[in-house]
Amino acid sequence: MKVPLLDLAAHHQPIKQEILAALERVLDSNAFILGPEVKKLEERVSAYSKARFAVGVTSGTDALLLSLMALGIGPGDEVVTSPYSFFATAGAIVRLGARPVLVDIDPVTYNIDPKRIAEAITKKTKAIIPVHLYGQSADMEPILKVANAHQLSVVEDAAQAIGAEYRDGKRAGSMGHLGCFSFFPSKNLGALGDAGMVVTSDADLAEKLRILRVHGGEPKYYHKVIGGNFRLDSLQAAVLNVKLNYLDGWTKQRQENAKTYRDLFKKSGLMEKAGLSLPEAVYEGAGVSHYHIYNQFVIRVPHRDRLREYLLENGIVTEIYYPVPFHLQECFKTLGYKAGAFPESERAANETLALPIYPELTHKMQARVTEAIQSFYTE
Ligand SMILES: *Cc1c(COP(=O)(O)O)cnc(C)c1O
Repeated sequence: MKVPLLDLAAHHQPIKQEILAALERVLDSNAFILGPEVKKLEERVSAYSKARFAVGVTSGTDALLLSLMALGIGPGDEVVTSPYSFFATAGAIVRLGARPVLVDIDPVTYNIDPKRIAEAITKKTKAIIPVHLYGQSADMEPILKVANAHQLSVVEDAAQAIGAEYRDGKRAGSMGHLGCFSFFPSKNLGALGDAGMVVTSDADLAEKLRILRVHGGEPKYYHKVIGGNFRLDSLQAAVLNVKLNYLDGWTKQRQENAKTYRDLFKKSGLMEKAGLSLPEAVYEGAGVSHYHIYNQFVIRVPHRDRLREYLLENGIVTEIYYPVPFHLQECFKTLGYKAGAFPESERAANETLALPIYPELTHKMQARVTEAIQSFYTE
């Protein structure tokens, strides 16, 4: 039995006719640029994420870049974030000429450790970018507290966390000044290509985002600022308007799959016998249903690379998110960080493995995954 990391064919098959009809509606309307589908999706995503405004953009990467542009971040500024995320988080900071100041992660959640943020703040610090990695909210309360104390902006990288809830049912993206979503096909809400969105409850920031999205022209052809083409494509918006109807159901399936893994691993005894550890959903039971939306189910294991190879030989595809923390990336050498600077991020990069968790994954497949892991450690 083969177990892929993701099965987009199975994901789209049941809604294929609905998607095709939506694409046809856009084709027939000729409203290809910022048409009614984009507006509708913006309204729905702002409601879904409990923020007042939403601005559809080209990708999650551009959502981050545009957010930092709207805050006026540039050369000489510092932005605090964690070294353990997808490249775009740090890339957006450096592309604007600012400096990422890195803060190690919490080893349980893999999100930025709030206790270490204060010591990273200088006179040049302008913003903090917490990442809600794998679909679980960062610990926003202490992050917002330290940000307020130093009058810093908070940009949430919620690319993997649309709908994910923190305490009191607060949703990812709505807690800081700006929240960034990605609709890359492998995210929980994925387009048929690239797409993204920024949410905010600040009317001024929303207006800035909308102007910067169209080259900074306001009115059209009159430019006080320099923006770019950051527009969300209408075809992608139409697809996302269909898929958003199913998002809560898919989230539930991902959470059920996580429970199944927990049961299977518990029976296997691998946590005690092999020192394997499962992801912790720290806000589960706090009265919220989207405590963790499991964009990824990431375990920590001994002999990670050998296990991954063994699973692949057995038809099971896994992934490493992410093998190289920012401070060890070649292009960021000039930041001057040394190996060992962020021990928890480095340890996570060496020990973690993402198992298939997609909604269409069957119980049989999950049993196959855990059996294969068990046989690796007993062989
Ligand atoms: C996917 C992702 C991004 C970038 O989103 P794209 O839509 O691929 O540009 C940024 N940050 C994180 C944490 C991501 O997972």
